[in-house]
Amino acid sequence: MAEDCIFCKILNGDFGTEFVYENEYVAAFNDINPKAPVHVLVVPKKHVSSLNELEDKALMGELLAAVKEVAKITGLKAYKTLINTGKEAGQEVFHLHLHVLGSR
Ligand code: AMP
Ligand code: ZN
Repeated sequence: MAEDCIFCKILNGDFGTEFVYENEYVAAFNDINPKAPVHVLVVPKKHVSSLNELEDKALMGELLAAVKEVAKITGLKAYKTLINTGKEAGQEVFHLHLHVLGSR
């Protein structure tokens, strides 16, 4: 849990956010400003500020496995997966997240 991290607060249950999917390592919730009919964010439960700070290869696998679970749960057959790393690339929230974007 990092101070002033909006996604850590979501993971802590501060806003009562419903999770699309979760397990011991990761959680997924709807993007507040969806850019596709289905727009879900998959995040590690421990605070990692960006892909550049992610060392744990097992956690990398958990994140991608969760993307597949989210696609299944939300009924997506085709979808895009996006990670913005660094401010110049459009990263706004510095808690690693994988965007899952698609249409049902
Ligand atoms: P990025 O630009 O890759 O850092 O993406 C950050 C994403 O987080 C954006 O798509 C925002 O709409 C989304 N976002 C910001 N605050 C929240 C929130 N409280 N709940 C859900 N999604 C959020
Ligand atoms: Zn965080």
